[in-house]
Amino acid sequence: MEYSEAKVKDFFVDFLKGYTDERNELKYRIQISQLPAKATRSVIVDYGDLEEFDTDLATSLVKDPDLYLKSFDDAAIESLKIENPVYAEKVSKELHVRLRELPDRISLRAVTKDQLNTLILVAGMVTRTSELRPLAVNAAFRCSNHHLTYVEQSGVSSTLKRPIKCETEGCGETRNFELDEKRTEFIDFQVIKIQEMPEELPPGQLPQSFDVSMTSDLVNTARPGDRIVLTGIVKAESESISGVSRKLFSTRIEANFAEQIGKRPEEQEISREEEGAIKAIAALPGAYDRLVTSVAPAIFGHELHKEAALLLMVGSPQKNLPDGSTLRGDVNILLVGDPGTAKSELLKYVARVAPRGLYTSGRGSTAAGLTAAVVKEKNGMMMLEAGATVLADLGVAAIDEFDKMRDEDRSALHEVMEQQTASVAKGGIIATLNARTSILAAANPVDGKYDPYKNILDNVNLPIPLLTRFDLIFILRDEADPAQDETVARHILDMRAKSSFPTAPPVDFELLKKYIIYAKKLDPEFTDEASTRLSSYYIKLRREASPEQISVTPRWLEAMIRLSIARARLLLHPRVTEDDALHSINLVERMLHTVAIDQATKKVDVGVLYNRPVSEKGLREAALDTFKKLSGETKQPVEDKAFYEEMEKTGSFSRDQIEKVFQDMWKSGVIFEVRAHFFKKA
Ligand code: ADP
Ligand code: MG
Repeated sequence: MEYSEAKVKDFFVDFLKGYTDERNELKYRIQISQLPAKATRSVIVDYGDLEEFDTDLATSLVKDPDLYLKSFDDAAIESLKIENPVYAEKVSKELHVRLRELPDRISLRAVTKDQLNTLILVAGMVTRTSELRPLAVNAAFRCSNHHLTYVEQSGVSSTLKRPIKCETEGCGETRNFELDEKRTEFIDFQVIKIQEMPEELPPGQLPQSFDVSMTSDLVNTARPGDRIVLTGIVKAESESISGVSRKLFSTRIEANFAEQIGKRPEEQEISREEEGAIKAIAALPGAYDRLVTSVAPAIFGHELHKEAALLLMVGSPQKNLPDGSTLRGDVNILLVGDPGTAKSELLKYVARVAPRGLYTSGRGSTAAGLTAAVVKEKNGMMMLEAGATVLADLGVAAIDEFDKMRDEDRSALHEVMEQQTASVAKGGIIATLNARTSILAAANPVDGKYDPYKNILDNVNLPIPLLTRFDLIFILRDEADPAQDETVARHILDMRAKSSFPTAPPVDFELLKKYIIYAKKLDPEFTDEASTRLSSYYIKLRREASPEQISVTPRWLEAMIRLSIARARLLLHPRVTEDDALHSINLVERMLHTVAIDQATKKVDVGVLYNRPVSEKGLREAALDTFKKLSGETKQPVEDKAFYEEMEKTGSFSRDQIEKVFQDMWKSGVIFEVRAHFFKKA
């Protein structure tokens, strides 16, 4: 149906004035009357209401939004004039009707030429936002005779539309016009970039993204890392890149309305049946083990790492203190290991199953890397871009090849991992973005393979301050063990042959996903018995570490608290039990057994963790013992070669270490050379 513009406006006026909702209230009349008090310039209309009121009008609006939205705005101003003429006058140029909840939400990759110039509803993750710029909407030009002519501007293309001739009667100027900036009308303008959300991305596809123009009161409503639903008009814009045919256009979405979607995972729906199934699992004997073995069933073994990953996904709630500071609830875990130990496999799985999970490599896939950055666009606009940990806000960032991260990230990640924010100050943009993200990172050892004779610091190319921000660090070593090798091989071959898991996971993928979302809602109470357990273990660790070492810090206690809470959440317990505390202690012990073993004594020594090279003390002691043994009762001179061989027999030290300790003993005068290659103890 075709109506005149005036007629269409009347329909909209009727709607705004007359629409009554289920409570029989004049919904939009009330909203309009409240605009002045709220100092807003947007009338937000639910599409469903309009459709219910007049289906034809609603569908026409979707098909030709440029025309219909303009009439809708005019209708809103007319209605506002009746309520508050002063305010109506004030906002008349920038009062907008904004539509929400269009019936069909389409995916960003479904936006094609068919949607051009229509109103669409899409959802996406905001990856970039630009600085604010004034955009000319009604340009004032002055001719050579100083007459003013106004020209309305549309779109955001780079050239300004100029008058064809001076509008003042009898003037006739057609060539010489100068822009009068003072009289030109501007609106606030910002470009944001939205990208398909990882959970909506078809497997193996690159995410699709769009530039979105945000104007007037929509500017600054979305920040990088936000997930939004957006109503907008798809526009084609001629590309002005030199050398490219002018027939090629690029698309852009002109936003009409944007709102954040469920900032919290718990807003995702869990049906009654699902809730029942989740509670049933938690009530089964051995529920915890069932859940752990359900993680990444394609990977054989690795129960410890699966357990840690599961607790990381569930996490513990962030706590706010009265002074505005917060206590981190997210768990961070680092896996360091030999190549081919299924680290990447586990990370990818976690990114798939965790709510708001995201898999990336240390380099990141964009300029913003792992944190955030300010980048300059081709057109000179400064853009604030979110990196992986900001995009995974309130979720999990699985960061592979963590040791390969950029230097900027290396310093910026401290803030993310402790304060849970990412700050940038560059090119006039100063911003702090939320990064309440759990990090599951994997790193490769510097020499390709993990060297157990070196401490973790020498094995991975990561600074101590970053390492200490991980709640747990595990080392995955690829050691030849025929029995184990055979089982893994059978597991992998079986999966190939049957295209399914050799043993079905107790909880399947979809349910585990929901289970985690459900568990994340809980806030179990921390109990005295759990505190007592943790504090006495912590004090014991502190006592064992010598005073000049900084290995065991209060961060360890916090880590164990987070892990205990995560376990209680996972079991859907209202209170953190002693058992939960013991489990978190066990995880720390298991970690110490992988990262803090003194190879000389084969005992856990927390000092080994970061401070002291592995078994330096042990090596020295062993060297002296060996030397004494070789020289015997009669104090015979000892040949260096014989010493090396004897030391190597212990199997605890590398040849390099042995030669070095020998040199050290010689240089420090503990031993001296009696003749070539023969030494005696001083
Ligand atoms: P990493 O990232 O540690 O170098 P990957 O995750 O890329 O190793 O694993 C290499 C391959 O070996 C993958 O295809 C993985 O599935 C397989 N693999 C390694 N260990 C196991 C295991 N324990 N069970 C099943 N598959 C494994
Ligand atoms: Mg890998």
